[in-house]
Parts: sequence; C-alpha cells; structure tokens
Amino acid sequence: MRHWIGPIETLSDVCRAQRLLWVFCLNCGHGERFDPRNLMALMGERSLRELQAKFKCRRCTHRRAHVVPNDQPWPGRD
Ligand SMILES: [Zn+2]
Repeated sequence: MRHWIGPIETLSDVCRAQRLLWVFCLNCGHGERFDPRNLMALMGERSLRELQAKFKCRRCTHRRAHVVPNDQPWPGRD
C-alpha cells in the first residue's frame, strides 16, 4: 500500500499517512505520542491547528502545544 505523501493538516490526513502524532508542550518540553484514530474517535475530524489549541499539558497544565506528525509510520502495516 502506498503511503499518503500530501500535506498533513488534519487528523484524517494523519490516519491516511499512518503516523502517530507527537504533542509537545512549548512551556515545559513535555512530549506525548497519540494515535490519531483515538483522537478522531474522541473529537472527530480536526485540523492540527485546532488540536494545538485544545491540548493542555499533563505536566504543567499550560495550553501551549505544538502538534507534529511522527516521522515513522505506525507499526504493523505497510
Ligand atoms: Zn508542559
């Protein structure tokens, strides 16, 4: 199967590209990985920009997130 190589701007783009999402806190540097399928199930289709505005850091509770797709595809598929 070919990987999606267009721009990744929304949760469904991330799913098509089969990537995980990294969410970094710009305040304290805390980073967490999320499965975009879980995020879609929770909040529906969102742009990454919208997501950034929604994430609250678990460590410092600031809302200064930076959302980036992981470089690696998720495991178990190709
Ligand atoms: Zn933080």
